[in-house]
Amino acid sequence: MIYWVHIARSIDRAVLHRERCSEVPSNYTRSDFWEGGWFDYPDKERALVALEQSGTTLQMKCTLCRP
Ligand SMILES: [Zn+2]
Repeated sequence: MIYWVHIARSIDRAVLHRERCSEVPSNYTRSDFWEGGWFDYPDKERALVALEQSGTTLQMKCTLCRP
């Protein structure tokens, strides 16, 4: 299963999502890691590492899809 990390630099927050979460945009444009955006990872371990390395103050898991 693919996991998504949504990095929002403007609000200093990163959120982990599962593949089929309704919050994951179907048409997304791959964005810059340092500017923020949606990033996909092939497994949860790598997604969690990316979450930790995002550098944001708030790092959380989505309450909708509960990854
Ligand atoms: Zn979610």
